[in-house]
Amino acid sequence: MDGSQGHLLFNHFTAGAKLTVTVGSALTVTESRGILALRILHVAAEIYPLVKTGGLADVVAALPPALAARGLDTRILVPGMPGILNGVVGLKRVMRFGPAFGAAVINLRLGHMPDSGLPVYVIDAPFLYRRSGNPYLGPDGRDWHDNHRRFALLGWVAAHLASGELDRRWIPDLVHCHDWHAGLAPAYIAQSPVLPTATVFTIHNLAFHGLFPLDCHTDLGLLTSGAMQSGIEFHGQLSFMKAGLVHAKRINAVSPSYAREICAADAGWGLDGLLRDRGSDLSGILNGVDYRVWDPGSDPALAKNYSLHHLHGKKICKLKLQAELGFRPSTKTPLFAVVSRLTEQKGLDLLLGALPALLAEGGQLVLIGSGDPRIEAGFRAAAAAHPHSVSVYLGYDEPASHRITAAADILLVPSRFEPCGLTQLYALRYGTLPLVRRVGGLADTVVDITPETLEDGSANGFVFDQIDVAALATRIHQACALFKHRSIWKRIQQRGMAQDFSWDDSAARYEALYRSI
Ligand code: ADP
Repeated sequence: MDGSQGHLLFNHFTAGAKLTVTVGSALTVTESRGILALRILHVAAEIYPLVKTGGLADVVAALPPALAARGLDTRILVPGMPGILNGVVGLKRVMRFGPAFGAAVINLRLGHMPDSGLPVYVIDAPFLYRRSGNPYLGPDGRDWHDNHRRFALLGWVAAHLASGELDRRWIPDLVHCHDWHAGLAPAYIAQSPVLPTATVFTIHNLAFHGLFPLDCHTDLGLLTSGAMQSGIEFHGQLSFMKAGLVHAKRINAVSPSYAREICAADAGWGLDGLLRDRGSDLSGILNGVDYRVWDPGSDPALAKNYSLHHLHGKKICKLKLQAELGFRPSTKTPLFAVVSRLTEQKGLDLLLGALPALLAEGGQLVLIGSGDPRIEAGFRAAAAAHPHSVSVYLGYDEPASHRITAAADILLVPSRFEPCGLTQLYALRYGTLPLVRRVGGLADTVVDITPETLEDGSANGFVFDQIDVAALATRIHQACALFKHRSIWKRIQQRGMAQDFSWDDSAARYEALYRSI
């Protein structure tokens, strides 16, 4: 299907992106599939392992298959970045249209994920998406100048899939939008008075708003009524995040604690008032772990696989990594690890402050990550000063992140805020005790080691409260002290490894959320 309908679409876009569906056709479609499974379209900018900058990609790869396993008819919509075009299997054209959003020709293609087999729509718009490197930033490290068009197109295609104009053979009942990149989808859908599609907007990180100058509004094809404009205007700019929060039928954050925290001024990034107003539509659903990818028993990246009752392989992983890094190989030396973006959010400046305490305890530190040049420089200097106990890899390397998680004794996540956090959940499965700040999803998943929690068997890691170096250093000191008590340590390791943070429970919660709309 292509040609005239594509032009028709674009005519409607230039006329104000009015959706062309009529009440009659929408109802016919819904009735004719009354007995079929609920159709859910996930809309996101990243998907593991094809394009990933953080936890969002892991979630987008794992939640839809978990929903499909529950019987929901689930598909994904992503922009055609090079990694996605190269990785999605069996792509076939569904619709050709354009020019739109600055691109002369856009092909909507349908293929499937190489691992899960889930159907994926890919927006093939070379002019907008065929750029290598980071999906959001140019080679100069700054946002691409046309990000508003690149991600408006993502939302616009979602809305037109919802209207049935782009693929009559599959029309979603519900569009599930992830983060600001997909924030305009609910706005486009909401401006059709007849479209019955329900929308859910998931906040993976409220700190990233998708802000653009107000005059970009004319590029977006949104109706220009005051209501629509105020729905995405944020202090004299456009906010794609706000568009999602205003127009989605339901909103959720990726952990119960984060859902509460963002309703307060100190964590709400100026959107807390709006979130409080939408309180009855806002919930928190914890992310899960894809144990097909994160399983020490079968992980191909590890020097030796291991499991809950056979922890010997973990020792091998540790000794091997220590030797590789130029550290003294010893199972008795506590090996700390960081796998993280190096940003203010992640509190790693605190770790730089607490590093002398870690080294004074005889600890070793291996870090993999990249981000803020000042934090990078701090860790680079620490590694240069302590080459036999601090090792820093400034970059992104998926297999290395697995090897480090397996080899370490303690994973450090001293975040200032943390919507959910996945690395502490991976650490738990790998028998690596997380040491975290009590915030967001970290507070929801890590139970501090105290005499009481040791007694009742719930302890699985170390937790500190204050955002300061001393609080972190104290916990590092206590972790090193407990590390000497091998049997207690092993009990806590095994408790964490046995915990189930799979997607099963969270997918059930998402399904309940969909059905509540
Ligand atoms: P965020 O999404 O805020 O970055 P999460 O903990 O939710 O934090 O997810 C981070 C994801 O990115 C995890 O899968 C983690 O293993 C991965 N990751 C972070 N930094 C690196 C890195 N330098 N190399 C490989 N993987 C990384």
